Amino acid sequence: MTTMPAPRRLLTIAVLLALTGLVATGCVRFPAPESPPPTATAGPPVLPGVQVDVPVEPLPSSEACNATLTLRPPAQMPLPRQMPPNSTMAGILERGRLIVGLDIGSNLFSFRDPITGDIQGFDVDIAHEIAGAIFGDDRRVEFQVLSSAQRIDALRDMTVDVVIKTMSITCDRLRDISFSAPYYVASQRILSFRNSNVTGPAQLADKRVCAARGTTSIGRIQAIQPRATIVSTTTWADCLVLMQQGQIDAATTDDAILAGLAAQDPWLRVVGPSLGEEFYGVGIPKGQDDMIRFVNGVLERIRATGRWQEIRDRWLSILDSGYGAPQPYYRD
Ligand code: GLU
Repeated sequence: MTTMPAPRRLLTIAVLLALTGLVATGCVRFPAPESPPPTATAGPPVLPGVQVDVPVEPLPSSEACNATLTLRPPAQMPLPRQMPPNSTMAGILERGRLIVGLDIGSNLFSFRDPITGDIQGFDVDIAHEIAGAIFGDDRRVEFQVLSSAQRIDALRDMTVDVVIKTMSITCDRLRDISFSAPYYVASQRILSFRNSNVTGPAQLADKRVCAARGTTSIGRIQAIQPRATIVSTTTWADCLVLMQQGQIDAATTDDAILAGLAAQDPWLRVVGPSLGEEFYGVGIPKGQDDMIRFVNGVLERIRATGRWQEIRDRWLSILDSGYGAPQPYYRD
């Protein structure tokens, strides 16, 4: 066996020690990628579905075509579970549930109770009344969540039996769908901050005003205050969030919906005169005259028995100026 001469052995040991030292002290570096410098402020979270360039919509009208004139209820309402053969209601009875399109973020009309998880409100109670008249059991309802802009398509595609979602009866809409008699009358007004100088449509010039897409509220405010910048959202609850973020100056829609938003924030109030009347009807697919007559019969009954007033008092007593149940006008 050969052995290294003493000086070379010392040199090898020195080199090995030096290499070990390099690794141990971490001198072989892998630099971390550069990260952006920290910013001082964060912008408000961006809500999906917010649009600023809103096309001009027609002024909604229900008078031009006498839109609230509707079909007379049957002389004799059928008993629950005994719907006329081959009728629209018989099909719903056979299916076992009434499919109702509505929103679940419209406080007072249709919203999810945070404690029980149930969907409830004025519109929901109307839905239960119709289900009760068909099934003898008012719980036989399936809710489908719709935004305002989805209401017409849901009825045209018949993915729902009825839409009960603060839906105004208008001449434009009657081209695509049918409506029951009006079951509620609202007035378009303005929601503003308590400390703001916005007290009516005049102060909305050059201001940012929120409204949900696919609603009559947009066309009317554009006609009354063309200098307002309309910011459109998917739901009315989104307008509330935009107000709370300080991204808009006001919102405008029916007083009953605005009251439901104001009830959620003590800094907000409903202001100004009525900008126009809105007659809410139950949306029904075109061609279902039997269903229009039947729903009108249900509405007739809840007015006559005091049930309508009970539902109104339960949900909308915070509205000071209450219209009573609207008077129906029938044709045969
Ligand atoms: N009544 C208005 C409409 O039918 C607004 C209601 C809503 O968006 O739910 O367009």
